[in-house]
Amino acid sequence: KTISRFAPSPTGFLHIGGARTALFAWLMARSKGGEFVLRIEDTDRQRSTQEAIDAIIDAMDWLGLDHDGDIVFQSTRADRHNEVIDQLVASGNAYYCDCSKEQVDAMRQKAMKEGRKPKYDGTCREKGLGPGPDRVVRLKAPQEGTTAFNDMVKGPIAVENIEMDDMILRRSDGTPTYNLAVVVDDHDMGVTSVLRGDDHVNNTPRQILIYKAMGWDVPQFGHVPMILGPDKKKLSKRHGALSVMEYEKMGYLPEAVVNYLVRLGWSHGDQELFSREELVELFHPEGLGNSASVFDLKKFEWVNSQYMQQADPERLATLMKDFLAREVGDEEAAKVDHALLVKVAPLLQPRAKSIVDMLEQARPFMVDTAFLSYDEKAVNKFLTDEAKSLLEELAAKLDELDEFDEENVESVMRGFVDAKGIKFKEIAQPTRVAVTGTTKSPGLFETLAVLGKAQTMARIKRAVE
Ligand code: GLU
Repeated sequence: KTISRFAPSPTGFLHIGGARTALFAWLMARSKGGEFVLRIEDTDRQRSTQEAIDAIIDAMDWLGLDHDGDIVFQSTRADRHNEVIDQLVASGNAYYCDCSKEQVDAMRQKAMKEGRKPKYDGTCREKGLGPGPDRVVRLKAPQEGTTAFNDMVKGPIAVENIEMDDMILRRSDGTPTYNLAVVVDDHDMGVTSVLRGDDHVNNTPRQILIYKAMGWDVPQFGHVPMILGPDKKKLSKRHGALSVMEYEKMGYLPEAVVNYLVRLGWSHGDQELFSREELVELFHPEGLGNSASVFDLKKFEWVNSQYMQQADPERLATLMKDFLAREVGDEEAAKVDHALLVKVAPLLQPRAKSIVDMLEQARPFMVDTAFLSYDEKAVNKFLTDEAKSLLEELAAKLDELDEFDEENVESVMRGFVDAKGIKFKEIAQPTRVAVTGTTKSPGLFETLAVLGKAQTMARIKRAVE
């Protein structure tokens, strides 16, 4: 059974790169009917914070990356890590070392001078030292052969064992090192598949040495390349929002974020849009690309707008209200008629880029006529005296309608244009400005129909005054 994991260090929010790694690992498990486990690597007590832990969990929730079992906190497992280190010492696979920092530095210098890779020279290997102050525990790395693995993303990777250091497993202060902790935790959590950023690719052969020394099964590894900004430099804040939750605040839909992130480094033919179900069905690690992906905000916007178009108006209405509540408070937001927003959403879906954008465009529908604000430029241009008198005549005709629906509004307006011998736009823009305050709105007839007769009349009346 496939068990994959996400193992973030909680030193900040969940950024785009981390979210993508989590998503790939999640898909790895879900596509195989396996399990996805979450481990918080909080051993760096200085840099790990509860806010960061919460932020990571919130972001994963929002993206729908559910995990199985309880969250494992690495900091709680130090005893277990030390137990494994003791076992490695007992089995002769690790040893205590009392070389000073100066001695080790000198060994490294010497190796470099002789044109070899800098490494610890093994002075304490056969000394048989026991525990003591200022002593570290080192892995007795094999001196012959190679350590090889078939990276799911990068293909075969091999390192000569002689090039690998006798790495430290336990520091002199008694704390286990990162590579040791990761291996013990992945083993104990039953992880069969490790997908992570390629900043970890050099750790993998070292970690494999620990698995082998313990006689444990080695999981499969995959290292995904990093994400670059449009300038081909490492993605950073100046390229736009880095935190996944910033996109939530900008009114992106989580399924759009998932879809955009998955395509940032994974492909299935040239298909761009995937539902969650499709991703779970189609995901295969062979589709992970081995070259860095470039973050493209325009494309991200496009993907989001596609999902905005498909979304259920009920849900969009609820989201618009949630966003409004953040702005004006729950009480004020609750005054907005939900049913009205459900009617407005479909008018805006074809062009709204985000919930924030949709809410902006929905504002004219939400306010009472008395509070509608008019764009001054639009008023000056389109609400001329001539236009006002046309509007008054049109209003009189519209007022006769019993059923104020899209079709009837259209036929009144078309009839009016014909009777007056004017061009449609001569009445359309003034009407639009009169009822929405702007020159931009969804289709005119549907806009009037959604506003309803009373509001339409009142707005035209206010505009012509
Ligand atoms: N905690 C590490 C990080 O956030 C990841 C370790 C791993 O995936 O093996 O970079």
